[in-house]
Amino acid sequence: MSSTIALILIGVAVLFILGIKFLSSPKTARLGNLVAAAGMLIGLMVLCKPAEAGGANIWTQGWTFNYTLIVIGTVVGLIIGALGAYSVKMTAMPQMVALFNGLGGGAAALVASLEFLKDAQPAPIAADALPHSVGAAITVPMLFATLIGSLSFAGSIIAYLKLEGKFEKPMTFPGQNILNGLILLVIVGLCGWLTFNATGHNAVAAFIVMFSLALFFGIAMVMPIGGADMPVVISLLNSFTGLAVAADGFAINNNAMIVAGTLVGSSGTLLTLLMCKAMNRPVTNVLFGAFGSSGSAQAGAAGVAGTVKPIQADEVALLLAYAQRVVVVPGYGMAVAQAQHSVRELTEELGKRGIEVQFAIHPVAGRMPGHMNVLLAEANVPYDQLIEMEHINPSMDRVDVCLVIGANDVVNPAAREEKTSPIYGMPIIDADHCKTVIVMKRSMAAGFAGIENHLFYKDNTRMLFGDAKNSLQALVAAVKAS
Ligand code: NDP
Repeated sequence: MSSTIALILIGVAVLFILGIKFLSSPKTARLGNLVAAAGMLIGLMVLCKPAEAGGANIWTQGWTFNYTLIVIGTVVGLIIGALGAYSVKMTAMPQMVALFNGLGGGAAALVASLEFLKDAQPAPIAADALPHSVGAAITVPMLFATLIGSLSFAGSIIAYLKLEGKFEKPMTFPGQNILNGLILLVIVGLCGWLTFNATGHNAVAAFIVMFSLALFFGIAMVMPIGGADMPVVISLLNSFTGLAVAADGFAINNNAMIVAGTLVGSSGTLLTLLMCKAMNRPVTNVLFGAFGSSGSAQAGAAGVAGTVKPIQADEVALLLAYAQRVVVVPGYGMAVAQAQHSVRELTEELGKRGIEVQFAIHPVAGRMPGHMNVLLAEANVPYDQLIEMEHINPSMDRVDVCLVIGANDVVNPAAREEKTSPIYGMPIIDADHCKTVIVMKRSMAAGFAGIENHLFYKDNTRMLFGDAKNSLQALVAAVKAS
């Protein structure tokens, strides 16, 4: 590789890093996407450049290099990506992320498989293939990329189907973890053997078995996990895809892939850990705990002090009329009801009356990281009204009215008060500290964790039952009329 190309690739790596940095704020997220995409395009163009004479870059040689195919692939990918991005509903965003991540993992696995099989063939596919004496330094990354990439592909497709609601409950059976452990052992054993026996018919057969088992393992790993835990799983699989791409980079000597893959791998891992921290659950509990399998359980009032006190929209409007500070706590139900535009309308009306309005954002409210930020941004709620949990909690006792819209687990005081609760220790938004709490939901049904919420029974809480969008529209009308 010439020093000019190496320098350009360093620039590409800087663009990827800047892209991720910009993605960390809603204000700069669009720019971040463009910057990272520009980096990808430059990387692709630089690496598509026909080889320097006698160069060792396999992408620029022989049967693996086909300029026309790369251009066709890029154009087809651009069209599918653009159509997908424009047509996807905000509520279907997690599915789309799962699908695209799966395709990335599958592509990484295919690149590595192609390279491995090309070298393993007793009779080479092409005369210009790499020499047969492939060392472990190349074989190990190829095997790693195949294993992790195919696992990520199969797991992401199951995650996609779960988010689409195709599987109602986590699929579990006795001894499942042991069976999965055994499959993993066989896969690792085959990889170990292949490292030292990378050529010949047996190597090809063992490789195909390993590839198939890795696909099966991806399915078996995700099947027992509850639908609402999918964002964590997708984030983990996302980091797997990144690592597979980085391993591909080592196998085919492509620095841009090493940098891009490592960035995706590390950011995916960090996001997974941050989400688990926000739910106060170890990753192992998400992967092996089948948490949420009782998510449809109805909450019962047994053992809870206090009573449920329903309220009507016009009474809430009266309370709001006397408020000076209002905090909205959005949750998964706001996404289901697609109530974000009505929320914005309400908060604008309150703003006109001189009432201070803020949104309290819990890091795992909803069903994907940043779910609430994305929905509220779509409805043009100003970013500076969105306050993160740790910043708003200390002042919740100075809030006159707290509107909890389709949120449940993220405002459940059991996380602070009940040591035996499955969500004990999960950081929550202290909605119960506000002077009056209005909870908008359709029934007394439980949230994702499937547990009773004591907030609904507190003296300062009133329940506005109904679909969140309908309730908010009634509330906007009542506020306008007041
Ligand atoms: P929850 O799932 O706890 O509660 C959502 C509530 O919304 C339900 O109680 C439901 O009650 C209500 N709801 C549903 N549809 C409507 C509607 N149309 N109108 C009004 N209300 C509705 O949501 P939270 O956001 O509070 O909590 C998220 C949960 O998901 C947490 O437990 C978190 O740990 C978990 N999670 C989040 C992840 C993430 O990345 N964000 C990842 C993994 C898990 P009803 O049926 O009575 O209307």
